[in-house]
Amino acid sequence: MAIRIKKHIGKPSKVLDENLMLNSQYTQIKLTDYVRDSQIENVFIFDECASTILSWVEQSKRLKPVPEVGGFLLGRVEELHPHFNISLEKFIPSKDVAYNSPTILEFGTKVMMQLDQQMDKYPDLDLIGWFHTHPGHTPFLSGLDQQLHEGFFKKPYQIAIVLDSLTTYFDTGFFTRKEDGTTSNKADFKEWVLWKKKLQK
Ligand SMILES: [Zn+2]
Repeated sequence: MAIRIKKHIGKPSKVLDENLMLNSQYTQIKLTDYVRDSQIENVFIFDECASTILSWVEQSKRLKPVPEVGGFLLGRVEELHPHFNISLEKFIPSKDVAYNSPTILEFGTKVMMQLDQQMDKYPDLDLIGWFHTHPGHTPFLSGLDQQLHEGFFKKPYQIAIVLDSLTTYFDTGFFTRKEDGTTSNKADFKEWVLWKKKLQK
């Protein structure tokens, strides 16, 4: 798959400054509660981002059979040396994917171009990761998911969020880099984040 993600060079490093956090509505996910080993300690998901994801997932459930859907996460990074906190502030749903089915999602070039355009609109935000659903097949990173993640989301703080859209509370895995640099997967999780309990307001 051809993916081209524009490099944003020369921008100041992003921090979760106090004013931003004071003036924002968000939910804090303490990842250490869910996963054994993570370079990311906390994920601050802004309400607008969480609700955009939720409505994108709900919309996919009107189709039968329910297909995989996805998108990209923009936000900021706070370096804690050696760990990170991240904020997820904007969700960019991938509307014109090359192909999707109940078990496959191929982003394709069109959504990458759309992502570039969206990122230009938010110069203060970085590409923090990507999101996709696994309708009925639990949160995990498949071989293809891992290839995409290791190929295009190489930074230590970039994450892959996978949500099972056919579970009652939307079981969700936040897959991040472990201390050894590899990316976590299903076996590393003590429990899933229940999106509808934790993040729905
Ligand atoms: Zn997948």
